[in-house]
This record gives sequence, structure tokens and C-alpha cells, in this order.
Amino acid sequence: MPELPEVECIRLTLLPHILDRSVISVEVLWERTLSGISSAELRHKLVNARFTDAVRRGKFLGLVLHTGGYLVFHLRMTGKLTVQPVIEERDKHLRMTILLDNDRELRFVDQRKFGKVSWADDEEEWVRIADVGIEPLSADFTPEALSTICRGKRARLKAVLLDQRLIAGLGNIYCDESLFRARLHPQRPCGDLNENEIERLHAAIQSSLRKALQNGGTTLRDYMDGDGRPGTNQNHLLVYGRAGEPCPRCGHVLERLKVAGRGTTFCPQCQK
Ligand SMILES: [Zn+2]
Repeated sequence: MPELPEVECIRLTLLPHILDRSVISVEVLWERTLSGISSAELRHKLVNARFTDAVRRGKFLGLVLHTGGYLVFHLRMTGKLTVQPVIEERDKHLRMTILLDNDRELRFVDQRKFGKVSWADDEEEWVRIADVGIEPLSADFTPEALSTICRGKRARLKAVLLDQRLIAGLGNIYCDESLFRARLHPQRPCGDLNENEIERLHAAIQSSLRKALQNGGTTLRDYMDGDGRPGTNQNHLLVYGRAGEPCPRCGHVLERLKVAGRGTTFCPQCQK
């Protein structure tokens, strides 16, 4: 599932392809990929409109039109968004395609069909749809801000990190990586963290996300950027998906447990 770094890489790679391009036509091949809008309405909003920007909040991607509207994507499990020459063969899981005025198509492919495409008429509506917490790579995300989020909460640390309403864009991969880097057990009650631990966790979240961005995202199965290229961060993960292998820090065998319903890999030695 694409998390913050993957959605950001898609945004960055799509932008040069769509910027100042106008929409010629819209084809929806799976109507239920749309949320809150019909394909006829979407066509009406998009045809002849011109893309002016691409923005992101958490795992939401918004492609901005000159009309002020936002074409909103949430890729969920297997959604992919790429720009390809119109002559290129279509994927059999293509759900929607938008023909641009340069003989290229913005294609939304989604094998598992959990991904959603929606529409916001203006920025206010975009903010309402992409209703998520603080951006962990923004200047607002300070150790103090993280401390405020954690204060008084009895919930498990990992459950709090996964909660999109609190911190935007972290999923299973970057939660496990961040907790390992911070040397914190995923089941610790969140409110118990001291100042030093908060600072470690803050630095760990930012460094695991930045590293993934530098590596073009993590491709485990499906993820690819807007150019159709996989990332390389899967080769640099410290613990995620490595249960049974030795801890890269201390050599103890990495273990797996379930926290907040999600498979979680950690080092019982380093993350007490
Ligand atoms: Zn260890």
C-alpha cells in the first residue's frame, strides 16, 4: 500500500507530465472506482479543464485544475497512477483514463479495486476530503507537536502512529521502520513516552520517510511512480518484512506480532 513517500513520489513524477495540459476526454471503465461523483459529472468537470498543480495530504493526492477543482485520488492497496502515450497497451486492471492534449493518458490502474477517485470543487472541499492530521515532514511537526499528540493516550504506540487523523501518511512500513530506529516497542502505551523518547521517535519518523523519498519509495509488489518506475527503498528497509532475520543493530532474531490488527516486525532486544 502506498504511504506518504510513495504518494509524494507519484506527485513529483506526475506533475511535469500534467502541468498546463488540458483534458480532451475521460473514460471510466469501472464506475465504482468513483466516490461521490458519477462518470458523467466527472467528465463535465474535467473536459477542457487544464491541470495547474498537484498537491498531497497524507496518502491523498489532489490534481488541481484551472477551474479551482481537485481530482482526488486515494490509491489504497494496489492503485497506480501513471502517464503513458495513448498508443501504449492498456493494463487489464485499468479503471479510469484521462486523455490529455499531448497524446498521452493519465491512467488509473487498480487490481484490487479498493482505490478511490473523487472530486472537490474547491480547496475547502479538498481539505474536507483529505481530512488528516499533521504532515510529518512539515515544519509544524516538531517534537513538541508529537508530544502533544502522545500525551495522555493509553493506546499502543503503533496504533497512534497509524491513525491518519493524528499524523498523516504513515502506514505499516514506515511505522515499523520508525519504531525500530527510535528503539521503541510498538505496544508501549503512547502517553508513557518521556521527552528523550519523543525526540527519538520524531527524528526516526522523519529520517525513515526522507530516506524512502530519496530512494523513490518502497516497491514490495505494486507500487510504481508516475513514470511507471518502481522504487528502491525495499532494499534499504531495516526491519519491515524481515521477521526471522537478524536485527541489523544487535543481531537478535527479529520477531513478528500483531498490533492494531497489523503484522508488526520488531527487535525484542532493541525495542524493549
Ligand atoms: Zn536489535
